[in-house]
Amino acid sequence: MSHEIASYLDPKNLGAWGTYLEQIDRVTPYLGPLTRWVETLKRPKRSLIVDVPIELDNGTIAHFEGYRVHHNLSRGPGKGGIRFHPDVTLSEVTALSAWMSIKTAVVNVPFGGAKGGIRVDPKKLSQSELERMTRRFTSEINMMIGPQKDIPAPDVNTNEQIMAWMMDTYCVNQGYTTSGVVTGKPISLGGSLGRRDATSRGVFVVAREAYGQMNRELSGARIAIQGLGNVGGHAARLFAQAGAKVVAIQDHSGALYNPNGFDVDALLDHVSLAREINGFPGESITSQQFWSSPCDILIPAALESQITPANASSIQAKLIVEGANGPTTPEADDILRDMNVTVVPDVIANAGGVTVSYFEWVQDFSSFFWTEEEINHRLDILMVDAFKGICDVAKKHDVSLRTATFIVGCERILKARQMRGLYP
Ligand code: GLU
Repeated sequence: MSHEIASYLDPKNLGAWGTYLEQIDRVTPYLGPLTRWVETLKRPKRSLIVDVPIELDNGTIAHFEGYRVHHNLSRGPGKGGIRFHPDVTLSEVTALSAWMSIKTAVVNVPFGGAKGGIRVDPKKLSQSELERMTRRFTSEINMMIGPQKDIPAPDVNTNEQIMAWMMDTYCVNQGYTTSGVVTGKPISLGGSLGRRDATSRGVFVVAREAYGQMNRELSGARIAIQGLGNVGGHAARLFAQAGAKVVAIQDHSGALYNPNGFDVDALLDHVSLAREINGFPGESITSQQFWSSPCDILIPAALESQITPANASSIQAKLIVEGANGPTTPEADDILRDMNVTVVPDVIANAGGVTVSYFEWVQDFSSFFWTEEEINHRLDILMVDAFKGICDVAKKHDVSLRTATFIVGCERILKARQMRGLYP
């Protein structure tokens, strides 16, 4: 199908945005009368490109390109992370903002979808350069964000410290302290207990549910994980605690295999110091061997477009749980469906992060903070319910979990869009 696309997105190189558009095309036949509004989902509401100049430690000036995109605000304020990565583009951020709209609707939290990022390799910056860049970026996107407007959060290469700088910059500009402008903050600034590993916990909960539906238990299951950052790292720990074996891992520095299962605590200690898996004991394998490694559950938890026709048919896992956003291309999705591999899509699998972001935002507004047990318990219940609802829709329409998840998410967004109507 040909796509009507926003003119500023390069039609020859759609990447993740192309994947998203294809996903919308696949769900459209199931949307009934709401199809009248579907074009809404194919266009971001507003996009901002900013220049971020900073003085480097050596006295020279460097310029970085930054973005904040509001995809859809029909159901509430924008919500979505900030990514620092050399491959960030407006097109990528637009796709990620759109997946946030679907994700917040799927778990039924009252937010729209947004995303931001800076095209930078943060590993090349000193801590003070990173702070200056984060603060200047926050000032430049000031008109887009706010506790009732759009609430950023961590994503690839961003963390609690960066959220603290963003919050401080916004509050200094406003002249008062308002912690609800970002989530994923340090606890001392109104952050939520349980937020740091919430995305991973959500991945773990849906993996447990999906594997349970296959009449299998996590104890003894062999897990392969791509990416050991915000999502993959904590997920590895949760799976190991449940008695599963993490047998294959991959990051930007290489891939390792250990059929007996890695010592996950030692692995995470190594990664927190070295910032990569390289140097950790294990059999060094190629990327192709990583994708084809013998395992039961595969967790892509890095970047987009990792599972493609080039590696999909060699995958051994019977269950894929998408910790990353957009890791599987639509062509690979078709191959996996024909192989009878169950794919739990990103917009439910990694929705634990934004769900606890919602809990954090609610706690900030009420200035009343919950216990970690309460947060983890509420997260578990919400994820299990959302996943069950999706499985019911998948059965009813005889469609993949991805299409079912998109049916649930798109219906919620477009019903809100329809009720609000066009103005002026
Ligand atoms: N960056 C995370 C995601 O992609 C979390 C977003 C949030 O908490 O707003 O879902």
